[in-house]
Amino acid sequence: MEKFVIFGNPVSHSKSPQMQNAGFKALNYDGNYDKHHLEDGSIIKEEFIKNSYEGANITVPHKEHAFANADEVRGIAKKIQAVNTYINENGKVIAYNTDAPGFLKAIESFGKIKSVLLLGAGGTAKAIALALQEKNIEVTVLNRSEGKLEFFKNENITSYSWDNFEIKEFDLVVNSTSAGLKDDYLPCDKKLLEDVFKTAKYAFDCVYGKITPFLALAKENGLEIKDGEDMLLYQGVLAFEYFTKQKVDNTISEAMRKGLKDKS
Ligand code: NDP
Repeated sequence: MEKFVIFGNPVSHSKSPQMQNAGFKALNYDGNYDKHHLEDGSIIKEEFIKNSYEGANITVPHKEHAFANADEVRGIAKKIQAVNTYINENGKVIAYNTDAPGFLKAIESFGKIKSVLLLGAGGTAKAIALALQEKNIEVTVLNRSEGKLEFFKNENITSYSWDNFEIKEFDLVVNSTSAGLKDDYLPCDKKLLEDVFKTAKYAFDCVYGKITPFLALAKENGLEIKDGEDMLLYQGVLAFEYFTKQKVDNTISEAMRKGLKDKS
């Protein structure tokens, strides 16, 4: 049986095992997916090889370490400089980022989008901003503090901290901050959000499985809203395709969605 894991710290909360194992079962694939708690991200490649894993996902806080340690990084991950998927290809560790295309697929259900305001500047924001930029969708980053904006400036992405933001029109507002995850905060000033929502059509929160204060406010202001479930599912489906080397049809992806929602 082929072995797969998710590396993280903490990792106990992860729903990836339920989702991936549901996919293996639906496909009749001889694989098992488990959790691997990893303290020190710098040894991620050694752990991957030592345990004879065929593939892995990587979550917080190891995505940058996983990028730096891989034998080969493919696709948009080279620009993002963070990866969430490892594959064992003839003893070589190949790395991908499926968060970026997973996000793009998740927002397909909205109408045509030309411009996006992206709240937050962490690892997820990097993946989302570069994915949007690659699709020629105009993206503006707004973050609480200045420190993380350097990366975006180097990629010619307009970026502001709360202090110097200038409001304009956006089709979609994305919350990629962790505000709303545990603490019930808005990701930025309420008045600023309400002003942006006056002209925006859609709001997306990367947080999965709850209506965050951000989404609630967007809905109150008449926007179409979506949480992070589809993003989580699609990044998992794309990783699953790398794991199994097979294209996933709707039956398998819906089995994976069911697995994701499994409360057991
Ligand atoms: P990071 O820790 O890398 O970045 C967090 C960002 O949030 C920073 O820009 C930080 O600002 C900002 N922030 C944190 N707290 C607040 C607050 N109270 N108010 C305003 N801004 C705040 O996190 P990630 O990018 O890895 O993850 C972000 C979110 O995305 C998480 O909630 C995570 O669960 C979710 N996620 C969802 C996925 C999915 O598939 N649905 C996939 C990956 C992530 P500052 O720079 O000032 O500290």
